[in-house]
Amino acid sequence: LPPVAAARPASADPAPYLDARLPVPKRVQDLLGRMTLEEKGGQMAQAERSAVDGDRDRITTLGLGSLLSGGGSVPAENTAKGWADMVDAYQSKALATRLKIPLLYGVDSVHGHNNLVGATVFPHNLAMGATRNPDLVRREERITAIETRATGPQWVFAPCVCVVRDLRWGRAYESFGEDPRLVVDMETRIEGFQGRNRRDMAGPERVLATAKHFAGDGDTKFGSSRTGTYTVDQGVTVTDRRTFDRIDLAPYVTAVRKYRVGSIMPSFSSVDWTEDGVGNPVKMSAHRELLTDVLKGRIGFDGFLISDWEAVHQLPGDYATQVRTAVNAGMDMFMEPFSAPRFVEALLGEVKAGRVATSRIDDAVARILTAKFELGLFEHPYTDRRLAGTIGSPEHRAVARRAVAESQVLLKNSANALPLKRNVRIYVAGVNADDVGNQAGGWTVSWQGSSGPIIPGTTILDGIRQHSSDVTYSADASAPTSGSDAGVVVVGEKPYAEGVGDVGNGHTLNLSDADKANIDTVCGAIGTCVVLDVAGRPQIVTDRLAKADAFVMSWLPGSEGAGVADVLFGDRPFTGRLPVSWPRTEAQEPINVGDRDYRPLFRYGYGLTTDPRR
Ligand code: BGC
Repeated sequence: LPPVAAARPASADPAPYLDARLPVPKRVQDLLGRMTLEEKGGQMAQAERSAVDGDRDRITTLGLGSLLSGGGSVPAENTAKGWADMVDAYQSKALATRLKIPLLYGVDSVHGHNNLVGATVFPHNLAMGATRNPDLVRREERITAIETRATGPQWVFAPCVCVVRDLRWGRAYESFGEDPRLVVDMETRIEGFQGRNRRDMAGPERVLATAKHFAGDGDTKFGSSRTGTYTVDQGVTVTDRRTFDRIDLAPYVTAVRKYRVGSIMPSFSSVDWTEDGVGNPVKMSAHRELLTDVLKGRIGFDGFLISDWEAVHQLPGDYATQVRTAVNAGMDMFMEPFSAPRFVEALLGEVKAGRVATSRIDDAVARILTAKFELGLFEHPYTDRRLAGTIGSPEHRAVARRAVAESQVLLKNSANALPLKRNVRIYVAGVNADDVGNQAGGWTVSWQGSSGPIIPGTTILDGIRQHSSDVTYSADASAPTSGSDAGVVVVGEKPYAEGVGDVGNGHTLNLSDADKANIDTVCGAIGTCVVLDVAGRPQIVTDRLAKADAFVMSWLPGSEGAGVADVLFGDRPFTGRLPVSWPRTEAQEPINVGDRDYRPLFRYGYGLTTDPRR
């Protein structure tokens, strides 16, 4: 591979855009002035790395601006070195272009550098919302930024600043909660990624952040949204403008004005203003008023917009029309995983025909180049491998374990069943007690995630064993021993991402029959019965709650399941509070604090504490 800083030309008198002492806007203008229309079009395209892998020279010939690893698009050797070698090899192809413009490489580091086996995998966002601890979220993202950048990618498609209003949404766990104020508080995550100032991004331990999915992605209604093959998470937000501003737009105002987020991803979903009369939904990728007038204009967003995965293919018309509509609406870079060449061709055709203004192209490219300069990519295009040794380190895992402990929400605790005493005899039941894949959920190594020991870490059972030497475990609750002092039943969901949630369990919030049976068996046989829910969202437990002495929402803890045991045994107090309202029945959804007829099983913000100071 070429040495670091290969972008410097041999001549003693470099072009101004290569002069790191000049201010970024000057460098952008200089570079833009040297580019052909074809080179500009290339910068606006992002391809899936697997699509160019067979012929990497296409990065050079197309002058591609960006590559991504979609969920699960990992190198053959899924290690820090495997990643860095892969990303650097692509980078060398970008630097072989006439103007040597480096690539931006993006990944979904949504709960740690979750594509990498061996990374520190944090609890998903809804759990982090339960901690109510913005400093912890900032620390989490500093770690995620380090672990991600140390393996090559300089850009993360995170954080999701969605405000989840309907738990049937298959992305509920990607949200910090149902209250926009809580989501705004947790936006310290952006600072953890980018640093306090976008100038900080040039450091080797920073990444460009993406606030997503703009806007209203968490506010679509179950059922109102099936358009062709697309399911609920790409539905329609039916709302009035004031409510939209207060709930869906608010996180973006903070992301832009306070944290200067560098990129924003428009949502797959549509918005339908009730004032206009229901029935005129507009896809966000085509929403010129919201993308350009509101976001870039009124709110003042000066980063760039990246379309979601093939999102423009959902717009009306032929491909050229789709591209034109989105770029004229304000889209700057296009995630066209398998059709980047076609995208560039269509875009150039529209410009040459006068249907897309060259000033719009220049604006888009200037925004993209600004991020590349701010990240210091022209000076340091290759991976700084010195940080790789920190990936998954005990220090990083300790922060994640603490986050797990702080996210646990104690919802019932009769006769102070919790904390459990050390070294009592414990009977543990349920698949999710001993499955690191299930407890990490979706977006872990692969897009959908999967069951089993897919990443190193500790399960909840491992954690319990750290506190008690007399533990019996049975996934299906066979032969519970009445001699046990306490039973711990772990119920929950299997991994999923996007769409409609736990497909294996019939898309529902209801407990599976197996989980209900486990509760019935264990709580019937053992005196003290603790039920833990390991799931991306609240499940319907109304008819089983009476059987449990204690009930804890454990969410999706990630790689450090031992953090759950830390609170079960009182090493740390329970302090977590619900980031969403807990429904009595699935039919109650959507149910949110402030609703007129608000009768949840547990209200928003509820959570018992075992902290004597509270
Ligand atoms: C998701 C985005 C994600 C993108 C790239 C899409 O399906 O909606 O959140 O960033 O894929 O993986």
